Amino acid sequence: MNLLLYGAPGSGKGTQANMLRSHFGIPHIATGDMLRAEIAADTELGRQAQPILAAGKYVSDEIMIGIVRHRLGEPDCVPGFIMDGFPRTVPQAEALDDLMAELGKRFDRVIYLKVPVEELLRRLSGRLVCPTCQRTYPPGTASCQADASSLVQREDDRPAAVRPRIEIYLEKTVPVLDHYRIGGLVSEIDGRGTIEEISRQVLAAANGRVVKKQTA
Ligand code: AMP
Repeated sequence: MNLLLYGAPGSGKGTQANMLRSHFGIPHIATGDMLRAEIAADTELGRQAQPILAAGKYVSDEIMIGIVRHRLGEPDCVPGFIMDGFPRTVPQAEALDDLMAELGKRFDRVIYLKVPVEELLRRLSGRLVCPTCQRTYPPGTASCQADASSLVQREDDRPAAVRPRIEIYLEKTVPVLDHYRIGGLVSEIDGRGTIEEISRQVLAAANGRVVKKQTA
């Protein structure tokens, strides 16, 4: 099962990816998490990427494609994977098509979590994250429910970076959806509502069922 989670920052991709990872037992490939790990390890790539992430801009296509090419070649991806945060530009989507073809893989579904911009801005401003498991929480939450770690604010969830992140998403990443719409692969899911309701629809989409919102 190869799944692509698509949506703006703050749309709930990380939460749904965690659910899908436990459900299907396949790795979650989150390019943002990979870059943050490089920054934490103070690698050469991490030092290059740090100011770009802090400003809410995009790391170059060349670097990102290289990272993903390397990651998809690892043995744990053989049974499948959940891609999150990539591709974010049309050239990345084209490179991913080539890479998937080379590996003899294809996406089973592209799951688009749709959330209006005002709601994204509200969610991202003040959002807290667990430094251990990357789960996100609303402002005011003291510790992670999963592992009790103290929560922190991501540098790019600070007000100065939130709007640039949404602007670059609208400019460079929204066109990526059309790339997959042409292939008829996209399931669009309303990213507002309870996590349980959204998870139910995400699972239905991943399993190839028509997504219907439950009425009360
Ligand atoms: P995320 O955790 O997915 O919101 O990613 C955090 C940051 O990492 C983004 O704001 C970008 O600076 C960088 N990043 C992650 N994935 C990509 C990508 N596919 N292309 C360019 N930059 C990326």
